Amino acid sequence: MELQLQSPLDMHLHLRDEEMLTTVAPLSAQSFCGAIVMPNLLPPVTTREALLAYKERIVSAIGDNQFTPYMTLFFKPDYSREFLESMADVLTSIKLYPAGITTNSEGGLSGFDIDELRPTLSAMSDLGIPLCIHGESNGFVMDREAEFVPVYEMLASNFPELKIIMEHITTQDSVKALDKYDNLYATITLHHLLITLDDVAGGMLQPHLFCKPIAKRYEDREALQRVALSAHPKVMFGSDSAPHPQDAKEAPGCAAGVFTAPIALPALAELFDKHDKLDNLQAFVSDNARRIYGVEPLQKSVTLVNEPMSIPAKYDTVVPMYAGQTIGWSISDITTKSSSDE
Ligand SMILES: [Zn+2]
Repeated sequence: MELQLQSPLDMHLHLRDEEMLTTVAPLSAQSFCGAIVMPNLLPPVTTREALLAYKERIVSAIGDNQFTPYMTLFFKPDYSREFLESMADVLTSIKLYPAGITTNSEGGLSGFDIDELRPTLSAMSDLGIPLCIHGESNGFVMDREAEFVPVYEMLASNFPELKIIMEHITTQDSVKALDKYDNLYATITLHHLLITLDDVAGGMLQPHLFCKPIAKRYEDREALQRVALSAHPKVMFGSDSAPHPQDAKEAPGCAAGVFTAPIALPALAELFDKHDKLDNLQAFVSDNARRIYGVEPLQKSVTLVNEPMSIPAKYDTVVPMYAGQTIGWSISDITTKSSSDE
């Protein structure tokens, strides 16, 4: 069996910086035609200079691959309308982190005071800049996302023209919120479609499956699968592929993040095939994102076949999901249409 995907997009990706960037950027840039790149570097990306410099480092790290890094800024409540207007030509969205909720988010937002946020969010809404949110409270780890849903709803109802993307949703509560507000959208990761908390901590602890938000219950995974496999028009694939060196994962104080970029498309094909939904994968990994973000991606055609892929134990210092195992689908061909072919 064979499946052709046109211009697959990863709408939530961590590329990091320096050596790690050099290792992981080509692994996304081979099979994806573009990705929304997260800004949680140290220090976070908050200025035009930092954003353009980071974009340049990404472009140099991907080598000959045809790939568009869609750049984001780290949300600050004091971005002025003038500043945002001046950034509109270089950024695709702005990412909001509650303070301290995940890797390098210490400078994030510590409260959701609507009056404090109004000037920046109104300007984003007027300028058509989507707001991506890591939606977790600082409550009990299994309840953090559900506790955050009222914040999503408050923002969605106060700024009805602002596109709000609930990033890497993991619960049935978030799935329900999707259909309640026209301006709420969501990304879903590969790993949250595949695993539950049982896979992380039900037996021996699996550090390479430990991430934030933490994987949840079976009924949550089922709700995520339902909207992803049916290519619900408001959900997009966002891997949240988040590399850490092996010694930061296999350590007391394991860093949060699952590295999935190089296996994402074959593993998604395997999942969609298993549920007899291969026809919906194109919408989930590209068409929905193009429509929601209004982007016109590079043309890249990826052919997947149901022949096994052996997943390496490591990519340089990074251990991927399913390291050393075999999955049922693989990539057989990638063709890029360069502008001279048109
Ligand atoms: Zn992330």
